[in-house]
Amino acid sequence: MADKQNHLYCSGMTPEKLAEKVLEDKYGEKMPSIPINPFKLMRDYGIVYQFMGFKDLEGVYLVPEDAMDVAVVGINYKRNITRQRYTAAHELCHHLKDRQNEACPIGSKDEIEKFAEKFAAELLMPKKVFLFCRPGIYG
Ligand SMILES: [Zn+2]
Repeated sequence: MADKQNHLYCSGMTPEKLAEKVLEDKYGEKMPSIPINPFKLMRDYGIVYQFMGFKDLEGVYLVPEDAMDVAVVGINYKRNITRQRYTAAHELCHHLKDRQNEACPIGSKDEIEKFAEKFAAELLMPKKVFLFCRPGIYG
């Protein structure tokens, strides 16, 4: 399968904007269905992912070597599903934006890592959806 390069990210974009672009790209004007499935999004954008046993990493992103290669993401299987979903969204950010190999250390303060963390939070909890969930509706 050929690598699906896409052009959602433009230089200077905020993590929130990039997440919004991804949701627009996938859902258009419709409300995304919650919970967002970041594993499906990874597949949709041409990533092959697998669960791996890391000690000090949440995940890794491996850039495709050429046009015929695919991007590979490894996710730490020792984490709970919530963390794995977050990591999946985080690695998707590297795929869309960074296009370079990234090992993602737990709690890194790196700028690239911080961007990916914010992107993941916004992607999984889009303001567009959650602004409609007013307190009190569910008791
Ligand atoms: Zn990372």
